Amino acid sequence: MSSCWRQQRTISSVVRVDGFGYWSGRDVCVEFRPAPPDSGIVFVRTEAGTARHIPARAQYRVEVPRRTSLQDGGVRVDMIEHILAALGGLQIDNCEIWADSPEMPGCDGSSWPFVAALDAAGVTRQAACRRHWSVRRTLRVGDQRCWVEARPATRRGLTVECQIDYGPSGPIQQQSLTLAITPQAFRQELSAARTFILEEEAAWMRSQGLGTRVTCQDLLVFGERGPIDNPLRFPDECVRHKMLDLIGDLTLAGCDLSGYFVAHCSSHRLNAELVGRLLAEQARDCLARTA
Ligand SMILES: [Zn+2]
Repeated sequence: MSSCWRQQRTISSVVRVDGFGYWSGRDVCVEFRPAPPDSGIVFVRTEAGTARHIPARAQYRVEVPRRTSLQDGGVRVDMIEHILAALGGLQIDNCEIWADSPEMPGCDGSSWPFVAALDAAGVTRQAACRRHWSVRRTLRVGDQRCWVEARPATRRGLTVECQIDYGPSGPIQQQSLTLAITPQAFRQELSAARTFILEEEAAWMRSQGLGTRVTCQDLLVFGERGPIDNPLRFPDECVRHKMLDLIGDLTLAGCDLSGYFVAHCSSHRLNAELVGRLLAEQARDCLARTA
């Protein structure tokens, strides 16, 4: 008989976050609502009086550059990773996220506005046990330059080691950080770390008509001498944000993970590939147990 890993959790009241989508520039209102045990994280897209549900699970992920998006039928939710990181980081397992526009609010480029709202909502423990899975052998995706790896756990829970390396000449230094992920560690060490972009990438996006509403105050835009018109919140804010993104993407596995995860120059695409490998491995474990 297996003992309960931990009890599932939801929020205690409804809270909302308003803002606009970085890519689309569209206003959006997002409402976080409590949800019953075993319902998971579910996005609910409202439009013209209809409500369409999209579970935050790996099978609904669609590949879109530089962000995490889900699609079911013709309905899509875009740039969901910082919301997922807030929910995953705080161990909120069951929650409905009602959104009146496809793209989630960019806010300040971090998970902090969502964490502040969820903290204000409060947490309710639920009777059901949270599903949990331990990495038993090393799984790796990517190539020599950029890769993400899941190694067997050295302790109970999730530990992440994250590294970034944009080369010796750019404005973003090499950075490395290792952290045992708990709600408190996520809140204090990762949630306020903002997304970042190079000045030339920002210029290219604007030339394509994307992100035209975003200013240097809405996220970190790195020029030759560092972030433009915006002080860093942490000296190593970039690697912290990469770790935040990974925490968000791992929630698509739909269970707690125990393992030592290493991400070297990771991306949403690689994070998703690793989640695919983890789920395939889980399915193998399940088959082996029932054989
Ligand atoms: Zn991000």
